[in-house]
Amino acid sequence: MTNALSIHPEVDQGLKPAAENFAGGTLQCRCSGKKVTVSISGQCMHNHVCGCTKCWKPSGALFSQVAAVPRDKLSVTANQDKLKVVDESATIKRHACKECGVHLYGRIENKNHPLFGVDFIHTELSRDRGWAPAGFAAFVSSVIESGADPANMGAVRARLKALGLEPYDCLSPPLMDAIATHAAKASGKLSRTANA
Ligand SMILES: [Zn+2]
Ligand SMILES: [Zn+2]
Repeated sequence: MTNALSIHPEVDQGLKPAAENFAGGTLQCRCSGKKVTVSISGQCMHNHVCGCTKCWKPSGALFSQVAAVPRDKLSVTANQDKLKVVDESATIKRHACKECGVHLYGRIENKNHPLFGVDFIHTELSRDRGWAPAGFAAFVSSVIESGADPANMGAVRARLKALGLEPYDCLSPPLMDAIATHAAKASGKLSRTANA
C-alpha cells in the first residue's frame, strides 16, 4: 500500500471539526525565542488549502492552508518589530517574521479591493484547537508553477475530493461571486445596495 498523496499536514489525516462558539486564539511564529504573536478574536472564515506560489506553506507541503478573518479581529501582540512585508508590490501584504520566515498575516491595503477588510492567516500557527477546518482547495492548477508534475494533477484533484476539499482553479464560487458583485457595483451594472 502506498502512502496517500500529501496535500498539507493539517488536512492529510482528515479535517478536524470546528469547535462550537470558538472564541479565537493566538498565532505564533516558529522562532525558539522572542516569538511574534498575533491574537485573533473569533472564528476564521473561508479556510482553504491554496496552491498559489505566494502563500506561506510548511516545507514539503504541496499546498498552503489559509483562512480569512476581519482585520479588526486581528492584533499583533508581541515582537511586531520582527515583521516585514514579503513583497510590497503584491496586492496582499504578507507580513512575515524576518527570522523564521513564517507569514503571520496578510493584509489588503487597497480600499477598493473586493476583499478589503479581511486579513489572511494560517491557523496551523496556533496551538488553540477548534478553528474551522479547510473547506475547499483554491488555485489548484498553480501548484504546477511551484514544480508539481502536471501529469500528477488527476491524482492531486482526486485526493482533494477524497478529503472533502472541492478543487477549484481560482477561488470558491461564493468568493468569486462576491468579487464579481463588488466589480458590478463599482461599474454601475448592479445597484450599490443589491445583495450578493
Ligand atoms: Zn519568527
Ligand atoms: Zn495562496
